Amino acid sequence: MKARAYKFFCSSVALAAVFILASTLRAQVNPDWTEPFPPFRIAENLYYVGSKDLASYLITTPQGHILINSDLEASPPLIRASVEKLGFKFGDIRILLISHAHWDHDGGSAAIKALTGATYMVMDGDVSVVESGGKTDFQYGSQPASLYPPTKVDRVLHDGDEVKLGSTTLVAHLTPGHTKGCTTWTMKVADAGKIYDVVIIGSPNVNDGYRLVGNSSYPEIASDYERTFRVLKSLPVDIFLGAHGSYFDLQTKYERLKEGAANPFIDPAGYKRYLTDREESFRTELAKQKAALIPTRDPNTPGFVTAKELPDGSVPPVDADGNFIIGPTHTPAFEMVVHDGVPRGAVHTFTMSSADSKIFPGIARDSGTFGTVSPTDPATLVVTTSHPAPYTRTVAVYVPAQYVPGTIAPFIVGADGPDQSLFTALDNLIAEKRVPAMIAISIGNGSGDAQGSERGLEYDTMSGRYAEFVETEVLPLVERQFNVKLTKDPEGRATMGCSSGGSAAFIMAWYHPELYHRVLAYSITAVNQQWPRSAETPHGAWEFHERLIPNSPVKPIRVWLGVGDRDLLNPNVMRDDMHDWVVASENMAKVLGAKGYHYQFVFARNAVHCDRAVKQQTLPEALEWLWRGYAIEESNNVH
Ligand SMILES: [Zn+2]
Repeated sequence: MKARAYKFFCSSVALAAVFILASTLRAQVNPDWTEPFPPFRIAENLYYVGSKDLASYLITTPQGHILINSDLEASPPLIRASVEKLGFKFGDIRILLISHAHWDHDGGSAAIKALTGATYMVMDGDVSVVESGGKTDFQYGSQPASLYPPTKVDRVLHDGDEVKLGSTTLVAHLTPGHTKGCTTWTMKVADAGKIYDVVIIGSPNVNDGYRLVGNSSYPEIASDYERTFRVLKSLPVDIFLGAHGSYFDLQTKYERLKEGAANPFIDPAGYKRYLTDREESFRTELAKQKAALIPTRDPNTPGFVTAKELPDGSVPPVDADGNFIIGPTHTPAFEMVVHDGVPRGAVHTFTMSSADSKIFPGIARDSGTFGTVSPTDPATLVVTTSHPAPYTRTVAVYVPAQYVPGTIAPFIVGADGPDQSLFTALDNLIAEKRVPAMIAISIGNGSGDAQGSERGLEYDTMSGRYAEFVETEVLPLVERQFNVKLTKDPEGRATMGCSSGGSAAFIMAWYHPELYHRVLAYSITAVNQQWPRSAETPHGAWEFHERLIPNSPVKPIRVWLGVGDRDLLNPNVMRDDMHDWVVASENMAKVLGAKGYHYQFVFARNAVHCDRAVKQQTLPEALEWLWRGYAIEESNNVH
């Protein structure tokens, strides 16, 4: 059959199809999936009856047995042999359950139902897949190698449903994403007089080829995975199991069990490690897919500012205002590397806690949750999972080698610190007298991101609150602990940051121009991200270019802005036309230019949000431009 298909359709497309099919078939005959494994008791009435990697579980009761996972279409004889080896009757299986509707966990269901007459119970999201023999699966439905005999479902399960037999109760937890009805089973078992919580993970894995973004056959897949990690992290667990032996290291643990070790399947730490690893893998893949979907924006798009295209590899002059285009190559600047013979400043760190803050006592949005767009206003995000929560933050203080104790020094406040690259740049720039001998205070955020988080509250709020926090709660500590004096002259005070940290830098100067006159921002989040909503600035930091800068008298602020051609575009559920970071930066440049501000705007080709290479290339000259007009000689020579 396969050979004939190959002969008839010997085109490149058909060849590709044959290779895909072949690789799927290879995956299906993973030797560990069909290699027998000794059946054994895990705890009390819970037994392992699967193969070396495809996990099947038998839960025995005097009223008959429950089987979880029928595995491959070819697996039932192997499972039967395992059940009988343990001394149980295959025909006593009364209930058949699965981890999820993939051929390696439910392919043998039709045969097992026929052999045992068991009642087949499946989570609602997987029912149509099971009953179509895999044909309605969102990913594999059209791949012949993934199909199996259709099997009628006798009871449709919903999240939280209980499956009872004898005195045993299993709970079905919907943990979707991997499949729409992927199910994690929990139960309690007694072992040596103690009660243990058992968790059998359905699957937290993002398979090769899964589309997490813009998936028309499973639009909610990414939020379903989020839900899965939330659910799995909330479950009490002692005994850690899953749909594949590889999830919980079956083979190693079985060897230890045989050697007579204390039950190695009791492994809450291993469960936590596994989830952390899987969640990180999911988030990395999600970020990768999101980034791949961001279009490359053209700096010469109509409506964008007119900008000067610089030769590849160069950066704008330090004495010129206006708009520039750089890239596509971003080579690190000489000043971003530590050089022998250049005096190095001292870096001190300390920790601040929410309990000690009057201005920011701490909030957090539950992990894996976000808001929903208000049905009446696309520009308003409703967040219901934000609540008071403690935090700690690290503050790093850079004191240049040239600083003379007791003198009053200029300084720069950086967001999302500590920022070692800033300190290295300053070592080199100060030594060359290209910037004043400034102190740098690099402040960590209060954790989280965006609406409902502490970082979002600190950085995206359109008010003087964050600047006031820095002024009253951070700077006095810096002066006291490290024997430095910080200038009150706003000409000697700068702010910097990236993303929301960049908007914080601008917000600090905008609402407190008597405190700061210099702002450096990469990928500024001048978008509608303020939370809670403010009646004065309903569009958050988008208001800067929409209304505030055009309609206000010019403030004595110097602004450096940088953005990437693949900077963020609609990264979340909000579709209010106020979530394009490139447009936000272009608009900022436009209104700052129109009002006659001193500003420099750098549009970087071949660059993403907060692009590291762009920062490595541009930061030294950006800092030098930022501090133009400040008396360098004087500050370096005060004794
Ligand atoms: Zn699967």
